[in-house]
Amino acid sequence: MLKKFEKEIEYCTYCPKMCKFSCPVGNATARETATPWGRMSILYLAKKGQKNWDRELAALVELCLTCMICREYCEHRNDVAAAMLAARAESISRGIVTKEVESFRAFFSKHDNPMGDDLHAHLQSHLASKYFVKEAQVVYFSGCSAIYQSPQNIADTFKIFEALGIDYVGAYPGKIQCCGAPLRFLGLEKEFVEHAKKVYRQLGRYKVIISGCPSCVYEFKAVYPEFDLKLTPRVYHITEFLWPFFQQGKVQIKRQYPKSVMYHDPCYLGRYLDIYEAPRKIIDEVCREQLIEFSWNRKSSYCCGGGGGLPITYPDVAKTVVQKRLAEFMEKKDAVLATACPSCQRHFSKHSSGIEILDVTNLVAWALEV
Ligand code: SF4
Ligand code: SF4
Repeated sequence: MLKKFEKEIEYCTYCPKMCKFSCPVGNATARETATPWGRMSILYLAKKGQKNWDRELAALVELCLTCMICREYCEHRNDVAAAMLAARAESISRGIVTKEVESFRAFFSKHDNPMGDDLHAHLQSHLASKYFVKEAQVVYFSGCSAIYQSPQNIADTFKIFEALGIDYVGAYPGKIQCCGAPLRFLGLEKEFVEHAKKVYRQLGRYKVIISGCPSCVYEFKAVYPEFDLKLTPRVYHITEFLWPFFQQGKVQIKRQYPKSVMYHDPCYLGRYLDIYEAPRKIIDEVCREQLIEFSWNRKSSYCCGGGGGLPITYPDVAKTVVQKRLAEFMEKKDAVLATACPSCQRHFSKHSSGIEILDVTNLVAWALEV
């Protein structure tokens, strides 16, 4: 698997570190080895037999958010994140598993999700039974993060559907409510494929899948096919699905959200799925004030620190990264922080207090008075 990245590894090793300034992990740790160049160079040395593939190396390749901002500043468009994920899988195939990954593996396999709860039951307790539309062709896959941490997003989404007269979307009724991305992020590829197969078998019967979780959307659209699990349903992020209803004048706004909103681009929604405009346009429609941008936005958006499994493997680094993002937000007095990813929402919430962190769906539900 890592062989696929030989060219990238070589380019990085001989590069004058053009992307270095952008890497949230390199910046948070102030360690040269934790920059994209540093980690790729270690892989180069391992390939040349000048460095053992040991625990030190395994721990180093875990130091990546998979945020992909480095690629935006790379002349070669090198995918360092994908190389890190391949290196993590390689470590595990060599039997080198860090203790954080080992305990995550055991926890996930016990619960079939990273939250350790019966997520299906949890979802049922937060969503009226009428939304589990039997024989629905269009399904809403909430994802583990939203069910566990932000059930209000899911309830708001279904209330929005109802207000727009959309009665054909059913909440996903399966037992397994996680796409498996956290396993893949930690290099647990064998476990990921086993898990993904189960989800794939359940989702194949639908015509359309909608999710409020960018990671779920990306896994279904781009990653499952890499493992010969190509889903036939079309897959949409909720902002992508809702925006056309606004464009067609089908959304009757009852009141506009009165506070200023600052929008954070989730890495998997932006750089991975190329969805930048739909959430912004929706926010513009439902808010009175003009949207506030972070200085690092859209393709250059700075990660919140919650991606790539980093909160599991390096919680302190993940915390330093989120604090940098929050520091800019805190300069805007009386603003609300909005995003379109339950994992970003969770990570921001976990490391802040007294700040309102909303999902785009919360703002739409507010504007519709549902
Ligand atoms: S990702 Fe590109 S810019 Fe960054 S170190 Fe590698 S080759 Fe250089
Ligand atoms: S993907 Fe993000 S965290 Fe990983 S090396 Fe690139 S910039 Fe750093």
